[in-house]
Amino acid sequence: MGTHRPHKVDAVVVGAGPNGLAAAITLARAGWSVVVREAADVPGGACRSAALTRPGFVHDVGSAVHPLAALSPAFRQWPLAEHGLRWVEPPIALAHPFDDGPPALLVRSIADTATMLDAPRYRTLMAPLVERWEALLGDVLAPPRLPRHPLLLARFGLPALLSAPRLARLLFPTDRGRAWFVGLAGHAGAPLDGSATAAFALVLALAGHVVGWPMPVGGAQAITDALVGYLRSLGGTIETGAPVTRLDELPPARAVLLDIGPRQFLALAGSRLPARYRSALARYRYAPGAFKMDWALSAPIPWRAAECARAGTLHLAGSEAAVRRSEAAPWRGETDDQPYVILSQPTLVDPSRAPAGCHVAWAYCHVPNGASDAIRETMAARIEAQIERFASGFRDCVLARTITTPAALERGNANLVGGDVGGGATTLAQLMTRPTRQLDPYRTPLPGVYLCSAATPPGGGVHGINGYSAACSALMRAGAF
Ligand SMILES: Cc1cc2nc3c(=O)[nH]c(=O)nc-3n(C[C@H](O)[C@H](O)[C@H](O)COP(=O)(O)OP(=O)(O)OC[C@H]3O[C@@H](n4cnc5c(N)ncnc54)[C@H](O)[C@@H]3O)c2cc1C
Repeated sequence: MGTHRPHKVDAVVVGAGPNGLAAAITLARAGWSVVVREAADVPGGACRSAALTRPGFVHDVGSAVHPLAALSPAFRQWPLAEHGLRWVEPPIALAHPFDDGPPALLVRSIADTATMLDAPRYRTLMAPLVERWEALLGDVLAPPRLPRHPLLLARFGLPALLSAPRLARLLFPTDRGRAWFVGLAGHAGAPLDGSATAAFALVLALAGHVVGWPMPVGGAQAITDALVGYLRSLGGTIETGAPVTRLDELPPARAVLLDIGPRQFLALAGSRLPARYRSALARYRYAPGAFKMDWALSAPIPWRAAECARAGTLHLAGSEAAVRRSEAAPWRGETDDQPYVILSQPTLVDPSRAPAGCHVAWAYCHVPNGASDAIRETMAARIEAQIERFASGFRDCVLARTITTPAALERGNANLVGGDVGGGATTLAQLMTRPTRQLDPYRTPLPGVYLCSAATPPGGGVHGINGYSAACSALMRAGAF
């Protein structure tokens, strides 16, 4: 990429996941011409929907539960509603059922949530954070820099630095509350007993109180369609079915933004990277993989607890000990007999996604990174048994199902290394130094080349902040910001 050569475009973005699209939009909004090259035949990466089981049933290929997208300071400042994005909110964000007694719930009201969980301390901690959530997220999601609201950040950061089980012991007097909180942290790509896993639980709980874990009407695809529509309205173009195998094959540009992980960057840039940077990338760690299932259903899932039928998302495991046991197993290279299952039932609030009276459901559990297709039937049976435990008769509603193993996830999207849905482990160390230790985490040793995938801060999830921040870094260095 020589700056003296004539540029056909100002920027090339490799990968059209939410972060690649967010990067492209940010550059196009600054007046740059942008072309996005995407390996798959359609844009969206892990934020897409498709008829995975039968025609008429719309399933999410990757992400399904979108509190982070709804909260995203990047997405919120763009006119995505004008490009078709509509949110719909389930009456209950999350239900965590037990074998006996009522499920633990996450609802909009902090007071109601705290009362149901018998946890006044939770209310005391969350109320000021929720009240000033925009200022807080501005600091939490920003690339490493001096915080704008240090006291507020400290109020969040001190408890967030604890492990989720430790903070759960401080906030919740009962196992129901602790299981609920530790289950929230199960979305993190880090061993639950590690430092800062509480941060994930706090952010997801905060999102529940602020935006209520809404879903895009039409599925995750609606987020991608809106981002693509907005990018095109700004003059950006997307080439699909266009995998990039070497950096050298890209047209000259002022900046190249890579929506790919460290492992792919090594393959693309290889010997052009200094040896020390190459070995830092090679040390990057991945989290366990996801074992995912989708079902076409003839009826709503027959949950035993009525509240579960009104919740968009369910966390299925039971006690805190069960969540911890299940989440620890894949880090040891094992699978759990009773896996902790995260389940979404979007047709509860979005009937457009299935024929009249029918439903779809999506679920996954963690298994060892890179687990082969050999575990297909065993894990599928364990996930369905876990659902049956709380919804006897579930199997009778199944019209069709698909199974996606970690290996299959990676075959469909090279960023999902070993089936890791978050683009790399989120241990405290790797949260702070994602993907390598440096002040501007998006910059690479190659002039004008930036990383912008989930393997950069603030990590995985559909929120586009990584792409937005990487593009800001590129614009700043080009003197265009
Ligand atoms: C099963 C699953 C469940 C999830 N659940 C949720 C959820 O409920 N909520 C949530 O917020 N997040 C969820 N996530 C995580 C979220 O989807 C990702 O963190 C997010 O999509 C990351 O965006 P990205 O742009 O960094 O990468 P991706 O979305 O992975 O996109 C990367 C894109 O780059 C393309 N690409 C890669 N290499 C090349 C190349 N060499 N040339 C050209 N193109 C290339 C890929 O084909 C892909 O389209 C889930 C993910 C999965 C897989």
